[in-house]
Amino acid sequence: MPKNFPIIFNFKKNEYFHDRIKKTKPMKTYFMLISLFLAVPFGFAQTDLNYYLPKDVNYDINIPTPKQVLGYEVGDWMVSHDQLIKYMETIANVSDRAIMVEYARSYENRPLFHLVFSSPENLANLEQIKADHQKLSDPKLAAGMDTEKLPLIVVLGYSIHGNEASGVNASLLTAYYLAAASSSAIKDLLKNTIIFVDPALNPDGVNRFANWVNQNKSFANLSDPNSRVFNEAYPGGRSNHYWFDMNRDYLLLTNPESRGRAKFIQEWNPNIVTDHHEMGSNSTFFFQPGVPSRNNPLTPRRNYELTKAIAEYHAKFLDQIGSLYFSEEQFDDYYFGKGSSYPDINAGIGILFEQASSRGFVRETANGVLTFPFTIRNQFTVSLSSLEAARNLRKPLLDYQKEFYSSALEEANKDAILGWVFGDKNDLGKMREFLNILKIHAIEFSQLTENYSANGKIFEKESSYFVATSQKNYRLLKSIFEKSSSFEDKTFYDVSTWNFFYAFNMPNMEIKKGKGVNVPKSTVVGQIVSKKGQLIGSERPLAYAFRWDDYFAPKLLAAIQSKGIKAKVATKEFSYQADNLNEYFSFGTILITSENQQLGKAELHKFLSNLAQECGIDLYCFSSGYTAGGIDLGSDSFAKLEKPRVLIFVGGRSDSRDAGEIWHLFDQRYSMPVSLVEQNTINRIDLAEYTTIVLPGGSFDELGKAGIEKLQKWISDGGNLISYKDATQWAAKNLNLDIKFKKEVELNFQGIPSFVNKADAANVQDISGAIFEVYFDPSHPIAYGLPGKTIPIFKTGASVAEMPEGLYRTPFRYSASPLLSGYCSIENNERIKSAPFVIASPVGRGKVISILDDANFRGFWYGSNKVFANAVFFGKIF
Ligand SMILES: [Zn+2]
Repeated sequence: MPKNFPIIFNFKKNEYFHDRIKKTKPMKTYFMLISLFLAVPFGFAQTDLNYYLPKDVNYDINIPTPKQVLGYEVGDWMVSHDQLIKYMETIANVSDRAIMVEYARSYENRPLFHLVFSSPENLANLEQIKADHQKLSDPKLAAGMDTEKLPLIVVLGYSIHGNEASGVNASLLTAYYLAAASSSAIKDLLKNTIIFVDPALNPDGVNRFANWVNQNKSFANLSDPNSRVFNEAYPGGRSNHYWFDMNRDYLLLTNPESRGRAKFIQEWNPNIVTDHHEMGSNSTFFFQPGVPSRNNPLTPRRNYELTKAIAEYHAKFLDQIGSLYFSEEQFDDYYFGKGSSYPDINAGIGILFEQASSRGFVRETANGVLTFPFTIRNQFTVSLSSLEAARNLRKPLLDYQKEFYSSALEEANKDAILGWVFGDKNDLGKMREFLNILKIHAIEFSQLTENYSANGKIFEKESSYFVATSQKNYRLLKSIFEKSSSFEDKTFYDVSTWNFFYAFNMPNMEIKKGKGVNVPKSTVVGQIVSKKGQLIGSERPLAYAFRWDDYFAPKLLAAIQSKGIKAKVATKEFSYQADNLNEYFSFGTILITSENQQLGKAELHKFLSNLAQECGIDLYCFSSGYTAGGIDLGSDSFAKLEKPRVLIFVGGRSDSRDAGEIWHLFDQRYSMPVSLVEQNTINRIDLAEYTTIVLPGGSFDELGKAGIEKLQKWISDGGNLISYKDATQWAAKNLNLDIKFKKEVELNFQGIPSFVNKADAANVQDISGAIFEVYFDPSHPIAYGLPGKTIPIFKTGASVAEMPEGLYRTPFRYSASPLLSGYCSIENNERIKSAPFVIASPVGRGKVISILDDANFRGFWYGSNKVFANAVFFGKIF
């Protein structure tokens, strides 16, 4: 075992199971020619391992079966994550073909790990194999390499959506098979392949779902789709701890699971990565390739050809067990943030599998009764077909990888763009996060050694970086830094754009190649700007102030307020020239006076000094209340802030993704507690305990008539309600707000519309996810801390509000030419023009603040998070 692999389970091989292994005959002799389903149509009998395994293979009796370890056959129960670890740990201990390696921890502290299978010789030599494999990404080193002699790197990844459980349960079989099967084919496979089995890509979701289904299991095999077992409690097991869809997170890296995985992919550059999912119960089985016209143009054509070549193995293997399937009709790899597409932009082949879901153990469907074991068998079978393809297509796949990187460099050299300069000196918190993400994606960047100026913009060397197009991950960086504006197909399985500069609202400049071009001077750094905040100015301050510009300013304020320390916010600008300071302070500057606080002066000083360091934000110390310009420190224009006590209504038909993003923002980024409350408990709650109530997207009918009246009274009494995204439609109707929505674009056809193209025609007028320009009033509290006067906003869905009556109600509006990047029809662009993004509606002594589109998209839109934070922190001062 290589030393630098953190092995999490360290038992001695071959001893652990000594007394528990029952001698079994080779499986071959048990194999039944007629499947369990033909023999017992509804699968009511006990499942048998022979049902799953290929025939004509002998199995090593020293390798324990899943049943010998877990006490039940695969498919009889949903495997919990703890049980999964137990089995994988056993295999790693008993088999000399496997080791276990942890690569990340989930929020709920569950390990994410690979069970790595290969020949014992390869396993002893993994570091060298990795180093050799990495050479393929460097055309100079790769030129002389004989791919015939290199092993292939394969990842089998299961159930990133935790409630698509056939994958994770099939991983038990994959592990057993790879450890126990003894044929010449498997020996050849192990000699020439490093197989990373990732049995549970989303441990927290897998466990949540397993628990739900197991606790609701009926032993009489209830198959009624209306029953509880098929209808998971909110938020369901699809997502991770903070309710994120992790199969959108491979580019964005909001979650630790994805960070670990992207790091692994950049280190190992796997050639094949499988991604095992489930779809609607009435379907059959899908394998890629997906819709040909919906491939991302940055993915080389050869990727599609190889995906198709691999698909022939799936077809053959599924034919052998008599399972129906389809491919090419649905799904796509346009967006690179998915498990089947991130490998595509990193020189591998990502393969999406979708199995019709049984959700529980047995279920009635349009195709008859679907059993859980049947779904597991399909997933296991395509795991084997993927490995067989890996064995037979090893050289073409390795050659493709080599060629992927050499052609990437050639294309980079031909690219008209030299690179991008970027940086935000006023928001180093955001800079750190941005650079960290680039680093995990193995995108090289360098810090400027001289200030860079062009077209009237200045990038200061201390806080600015350069990223060159000419580098290994050229295609990946093109996809994340370039705007997208032309599309072959107007249907997107996911978003149509994901520009990182827009997401971070990051000042940047594209630099074109050409004579006399001003090339930025920079030096490569491994270290990311890490600034420790400090106290600056007077030693004995009368007051402290900090700007609201930094991404983590809300974290600093929340920490101050949680200590009971009073803070105010500047609603007008001022400048200060004393105590060796000469500083301008904009709207939103936070002021803390030394007098009349919970802490004594010395204690307060120490507390704030520590916080400045922790948050990386400077606090200015003023010895005088007299300012050089604008308001003085005793001015009434410093508005008193109340500590926000936030309630988020969840459950029912509220959108768990929107709710999770908000929970994550406050809990993880701002270290500030927010209460998630089931909407149907409103009548038991004293709403007066909260300053702010959030309705994330979705509808809130479970509040009930009495609950809605209670909520209305709470707002009238001075409450601050935030309606987010489509919750505004619900709020407008149910809380009688003066907000109306524009009609959706009507589809027009000449002659009779073609029925077969019905879905495509509708998709033309959908906004699957695009970026728009919004301009704002910088003096409005909801805009505090935002740079400039415009901000890129991510929008999904075609809902657009009308401009409401009343001055000062719409501090944020879409610009007159709003589309910045991504697909949006001309008609929709017209509807969005100058429409409101934020609407404030006064109700009695309180108000409703409606944020109509995404401010927190997938936890990644750092640039607009502050709009949401401002609605919470400053919602009561206007
Ligand atoms: Zn899925």
